[in-house]
Amino acid sequence: MSESENTHQLLQQLLTVVSSIQHDQKALTAAVDAINTRVNSLSDVKEVTSVATSSSTVFVAPQSPLDDGSISSSAVQKKPTPSTSKIILTTYPGRMGIDPLPMVWGHANAKERGPVVVGRGPQTHGRRNAIGAHGGSYSIYHALALATQELSADHRPDFTNTEPVCNIGPFPQWSDPKKIVAMDPWGHLAPEIFKSNIDEGIDIRPTIAVTKAHMHLPELEHSVKAGRLKVDGDIVVNELGELAVTKFAVEPCWYLPGVAERFGVDEGTLRRSLFENTGGSFPELITRPDIKVFLPPIGGLTVYCFGDPAKMSDRSVKLSLRIHDECNGSDVFGSDICTCRPYLLFGIEEAVKEAQNGGSGVVIYFRKEGRALGEVTKYLVYNARKRGIDRASEYFKRTENIAGVKDMRFQALMPDILHWLGITKIDRMLSMSNMKYEAIVNQGIEIGERVPIPDDMIPADSRVEIDAKIHAGYFTTGKVLTMEELSTVQGRAWEDVDH
Ligand SMILES: [Zn+2]
Repeated sequence: MSESENTHQLLQQLLTVVSSIQHDQKALTAAVDAINTRVNSLSDVKEVTSVATSSSTVFVAPQSPLDDGSISSSAVQKKPTPSTSKIILTTYPGRMGIDPLPMVWGHANAKERGPVVVGRGPQTHGRRNAIGAHGGSYSIYHALALATQELSADHRPDFTNTEPVCNIGPFPQWSDPKKIVAMDPWGHLAPEIFKSNIDEGIDIRPTIAVTKAHMHLPELEHSVKAGRLKVDGDIVVNELGELAVTKFAVEPCWYLPGVAERFGVDEGTLRRSLFENTGGSFPELITRPDIKVFLPPIGGLTVYCFGDPAKMSDRSVKLSLRIHDECNGSDVFGSDICTCRPYLLFGIEEAVKEAQNGGSGVVIYFRKEGRALGEVTKYLVYNARKRGIDRASEYFKRTENIAGVKDMRFQALMPDILHWLGITKIDRMLSMSNMKYEAIVNQGIEIGERVPIPDDMIPADSRVEIDAKIHAGYFTTGKVLTMEELSTVQGRAWEDVDH
């Protein structure tokens, strides 16, 4: 074969490859078009002709929903609102109109750090530097309020008189990008610090609020009557055991590189898992690697501080602290299958005593119902326990059978709130959890004494749980049961209560 024939053959092969690529490209484009058409018909909108010049994939609604012959849904009766006139599936860095406000996570100067911007209004959308939405899990109710037009899309909050009731920080921990990765350390001051941005029309909202209140728990009235708690008129306000408290509500705000590092995974793996396992709700987790902050749709936390809030970070006074994860059935409704409410009350009482002794007492309440598995899983586990013999030796296995794990609370992010409060040591840790203990000391916060719940506060039916937890590594000053002994610790059977 001559050289020219060789060349000819090579060119032919190249041509085949190129036309095959072209064919694939066409197929891909058709697939993308099909998806877009489907999205359009689902949302009763049609494609605008100027997509190519737009900063993102944008669709514009027809003047009237009935203009489009393909629309038959009777659900679409309301006039399109400004927020529903366009659907932006996702955005990409560097496109026209995409100009995120600078965000330097961990910068010591709040203005240099930059505001967390996640709003979707017309003046804010292109300036966003965060993915997700405000309000944690309540962002879905916000979406409902907008969908039903109960809430106007252009509503802007009036922050008059909403500022914190006490000063907190700034502490050196606020400017350590590795110490605080799961909340915005400037979240309580956002309306004040970033007022000029707000005045320009950018939608910026606080992720932390600080207030003060009285609280009344019947058990603490008993504590006063029994003489365990003294009325001082300041912290224990009266004979009813009413307590004066400063409360801090915190919504989650994740700095994704820091969160990934805390869990020992790479940022890409974290982003992809969050994207895929929220039904693809946040495509910018994939398309906007330049945005590092994510406001996840999960519950937040509340700090209950007894005594002067300034003392929380004061190393010269003692600090008693409980970290409590939500258990609605026990905390609020008094279920006796676990130790949650008794331990919570013990924590509050000890915190109050510490504050009365000149120290500081703090209880931090995390919305992580049922070890962050949720109440449905929790009740399934209860059924599996009570339909068999409810033995301590089987306790964790019952959860693992259903959930695949025994716990999803991931305490690694929990210490952020301690860093934010300026806490560097805890004198009395009112918790037996080894997971909480390890998470805190791994963050360089010292823990002195660990204080278990007193035996006489443990409901009989919750021995199964507490003995199983102690066997699994929970701190105790008492006895750790052997596996054999655990099998003799049994909870109440259903027959005992069905009367
Ligand atoms: Zn509980």
